[in-house]
Amino acid sequence: MPDCLFCKIVAGDIPGSIVHRDEHLLAFKDINPQAPLHVLIVPRRHIASLNDLGPEDDDLVGEMVRRAAAIAREHGCADSGYRTVFNCNADAGQTVFHIHLHVLGGRRLSWPPG
Ligand code: 5GP
Ligand code: ZN
Repeated sequence: MPDCLFCKIVAGDIPGSIVHRDEHLLAFKDINPQAPLHVLIVPRRHIASLNDLGPEDDDLVGEMVRRAAAIAREHGCADSGYRTVFNCNADAGQTVFHIHLHVLGGRRLSWPPG
């Protein structure tokens, strides 16, 4: 998707602080971190939002969630705790329309979210 920020990071056209890459996924540090650990996990393939997922994406979503757990473990957050978030559309505050799984940890996170 030519005008998509995260497609540009996947393509290497915009720099990102990459923490993981594989055949299907890229994970990089959020530019405006909200916790000591704040990583975004994105599929290499452009998918605009959670509403655009189909059954054919079940494996991909599973890989994203399991990668989140792996990244949290690598950063020492597996036992202390961490949060994963998919924001979808305006009321959730989605600003980049290429699905991304936030992984937040390294501090106490309040609930419910604002
Ligand atoms: P959303 O609000 O769509 O769920 O999350 C988008 C996230 O992307 C935000 O947390 C924001 O800080 C992050 N972000 C926006 N632009 C960039 C960028 O150019 N590079 C990186 N690494 N993160 C970005
Ligand atoms: Zn994209």
